[in-house]
Amino acid sequence: MKQIYLDYAATTPTHPEVVKVMLPYLNEMFGNPTSIHSCGLQAKKAIEEARSNIAAFIGARNEEIVFTSGGTEADNLALKGIVLANESKGNHIITTTIEHHAVIETCKFLEKQGFKVTYLPVDSYGLVDPDDLKKAITNKTILVSIMHANNEVGTIEPIAEIGKITREAGIYFHTDTVQTVGHIPVDVNMLGVDLLSISAHKLYGPKGIGALYIRKGTKLTPIQHGGGQEKKRRSGTENTASIVGFAKATELAKEEMPTEAQRLVSLRDRLISGILERIEHIKLNGHPLIRLPNNVNVSIDYIEGEAVMLNLDLEGICVSTGSACSSSGQETSHVLLAMGLPREQAYGSLRITLGRWTTKPEIDHVLEVLEKVVAKLRAISPLAVKGGRQSRNG
Ligand code: PLP
Repeated sequence: MKQIYLDYAATTPTHPEVVKVMLPYLNEMFGNPTSIHSCGLQAKKAIEEARSNIAAFIGARNEEIVFTSGGTEADNLALKGIVLANESKGNHIITTTIEHHAVIETCKFLEKQGFKVTYLPVDSYGLVDPDDLKKAITNKTILVSIMHANNEVGTIEPIAEIGKITREAGIYFHTDTVQTVGHIPVDVNMLGVDLLSISAHKLYGPKGIGALYIRKGTKLTPIQHGGGQEKKRRSGTENTASIVGFAKATELAKEEMPTEAQRLVSLRDRLISGILERIEHIKLNGHPLIRLPNNVNVSIDYIEGEAVMLNLDLEGICVSTGSACSSSGQETSHVLLAMGLPREQAYGSLRITLGRWTTKPEIDHVLEVLEKVVAKLRAISPLAVKGGRQSRNG
């Protein structure tokens, strides 16, 4: 059975061109970039070239890019690094209720250290209201962290508008662009951000590498101590091969993004309308228009998303329930609950995310299989509509 992979928001396959440029740095060009002999200098040169390409891709300066082990570390470094360096100015952080766990759990940790955190609400589409942010700012606020696009429902937040507010208020602004860099345009100046997290494995690069953009002049305390790499902002021997692969991924994204985004929007909309036409008692989660080109998230009444996901897997189709990063347990999606979905609808959620190798025949196949799987599960669900009457409690 040919596998159909539709979980690109969890991770993307490494692009063959990316693998190709990485291999020499795992073989003959293995030098430690900190070494000052020729083997080290070769690695150092490759890293600096990669840094320059990645910086240009997001409108940043080379020295504003710090390599990390991925999005989680970039988020941790941004939040902890800023509040530790700016404690004398205040102790208040503003974020949202729909952030990735890398931000939410960091905020919870900081609350235990005595910092105050405001979690802004979102509307039923998952959108933050910039007016709520204005109202939440106090003279103790030192950092605002709001994601560019949500990883579960794909809603894109008004980051540029928020950037204007934080700039006027003189507060540091961090955004998590793990789901957007390489997929929709991201420019640090147009967004008006001071810190921005990226992860390479969401844009066809390798896993375990990412970056934090830190605007020049931003006061940040490192959270990792050691050899002082990355201009003392992130100690640890650099992952040369992955950094080179990360840069190649951004280069490919630059070439392909405009046409690829359009192609994905048309496949996404085919999938959404197909699902809504074929299956009753189903709801699209997230904003119908202001959403990522590749994201489909639905709540299917009367059955559990996990059961649908496992049945699709048996048919060779890989999708996800909510966020893969949190799907180790039967935890209800904090994002869907924050959007006001009842718990049953949050349990019935399914995330289907498309990517570079998704085709129209695959989408049509998924529509057919999904319809059958839902019918099969509803037939045995005690909650399902029976004889036209809903028996939700029975
Ligand atoms: N932030 C967002 C929005 C994500 O979707 C993810 C991963 O799913 C992360 C952060 C974590 O990134 P990484 O897997 O590189 O640690």
